[in-house]
Amino acid sequence: MSFINETHDINLKSWVASANQAGNDFPIQNLPFASFRRKGSNEEFRGGVAIGDQVLDLAAVAAANIFDGVAQEAVEAANAQALNEFMGLGKAHWSGLRLALSRALREGSEHQSALESALVAQDDVEYALPCHIGDYTDFYTSIYHATAVGSLFRPDNPLLPNYKWVPIGYHGRASSIDVSGQTFPRPKGQTKAPDADAPSFGPCKRLDYELELGIYLGKGNELGEAIAIEDAEDHVFGFCLFNDWSARDLQAWEYQPLGPFLAKNFASTVSPWIVTTEALAPYRTAWHRDENDPQPMSYLESAQNRETGSFDIQMDVLIETDKMRSENAAPSKVSESSFKHSYWTVAQMVTHHTVNGCNFLPGDMLGSGTQSGPEHEEAGSLLELSRGGKESITLSNGEERKFLEDGDKVIMRGWCEADGFNRIGFGSVEGTVLPAK
Ligand code: CA
Repeated sequence: MSFINETHDINLKSWVASANQAGNDFPIQNLPFASFRRKGSNEEFRGGVAIGDQVLDLAAVAAANIFDGVAQEAVEAANAQALNEFMGLGKAHWSGLRLALSRALREGSEHQSALESALVAQDDVEYALPCHIGDYTDFYTSIYHATAVGSLFRPDNPLLPNYKWVPIGYHGRASSIDVSGQTFPRPKGQTKAPDADAPSFGPCKRLDYELELGIYLGKGNELGEAIAIEDAEDHVFGFCLFNDWSARDLQAWEYQPLGPFLAKNFASTVSPWIVTTEALAPYRTAWHRDENDPQPMSYLESAQNRETGSFDIQMDVLIETDKMRSENAAPSKVSESSFKHSYWTVAQMVTHHTVNGCNFLPGDMLGSGTQSGPEHEEAGSLLELSRGGKESITLSNGEERKFLEDGDKVIMRGWCEADGFNRIGFGSVEGTVLPAK
């Protein structure tokens, strides 16, 4: 099955000149969605599509009434602060709108004059969460992260026996998810040093980030009706960058027996842009399960999942400290990884989540889990990079970190590259730690 169509053609150019600059995140082959308005205005937030350094205002596109059929229905649904209704329409509408937007934004389009006035510079906008996230589930799909963290928390038993059979996850908290630019006070809570008799209370001393992808569900499923793996991706609207902030000292004390709780629910940050599953088609890769490992149970197995179930989405993490800001120094890159290392695919996550009949609603989000790669320097958290807080890492300006300090801004970026196709990017997700209240 080919996922490639005319919207992925590397030769497409847009009449929006900035979209044609090499290396920019938002060429015409990308077309991700966000919720935006002019910065500092009282305008309603509404759907927008990134093109070069501009946002195409979908409220204005809907009003221009230049599309037909499913594309016009879709753009009208996307004229809302929360894109849940559009996301719930399903693949024919997503794909129809993508094709219509691609054609309308191409060089020579008859719609150029109608759409020029619908552009707003990205520098002049602010973003809201792209949709109402009703439920959020965080997976744990990097075996490298699971093994590294397990060996710190349980040296004698790092990888639990269910890991290679079950796409492990837990139900997270959606209310504290916010869009890039989020700031939050350092969380407080109970911690207990291994040699202490009793726990103590105070600000977290081991505050960390987690480099993840967020996966947005589009079309949901009825309660009681599982989603077969062959159909799983039809329910996946798209992907964002996701920082799942984590309080490691709170986590170590509280996580047994029921898993993370206050260590994870104080803040989580998503990038503004949702890159659609369709836009990611050129960067699909084969999914492989080591022959020495258990093979997936039949409900988690399909030929398509084997052939094209993984996505090579490259990601990196940068830290910008107070000192860097005061000296106008660039942020320091601390690691780089790819989602292609994931032990489980998105389709397997979706199918496993619903195999018991659990229902998804449009706008629900899955976290991929921290995407650490096989090498130590590809770790997606400071917990791993500092080997459990034992070794400092040195930033580009000479400052050292084991965990995050007040004023630290964490920046994550994502992008995809493949031979014969244009590079597309996710933009960034940024968030800053404030002092404890
Ligand atoms: Ca996580």
